Amino acid sequence: MREAFLKRLFAKVNCGVCGQKYDAANIKILDQEDGLWVLSVYCGSCGTQGLIAAVVQEGNITDIITDLTEAEYDRFSKKEAVGVDDVQAIHSFLKEFDGDFASLFSEE
Ligand SMILES: [Zn+2]
Repeated sequence: MREAFLKRLFAKVNCGVCGQKYDAANIKILDQEDGLWVLSVYCGSCGTQGLIAAVVQEGNITDIITDLTEAEYDRFSKKEAVGVDDVQAIHSFLKEFDGDFASLFSEE
């Protein structure tokens, strides 16, 4: 349920005035049209009232702009993001690397 999701999401947002988290009960959805949601929030701690506008996009994979082929996208989407280990691996590789690309690529 999208409404419940938005309430959960904004219950994690802090009040801009006093820094307290909004209570889900004090978050009201005022309007929704074409993915634009307007929420009214009320801070139980300091009494500040505010409006939040949120754009919620429908997840649509065809909207992704990429030059990957479908097979590549499928392959990379299952891979983990580049991590510290990857950076350390390439770092130690480059430390040892003598710049001989020809023999590097002919090894395969
Ligand atoms: Zn507050």
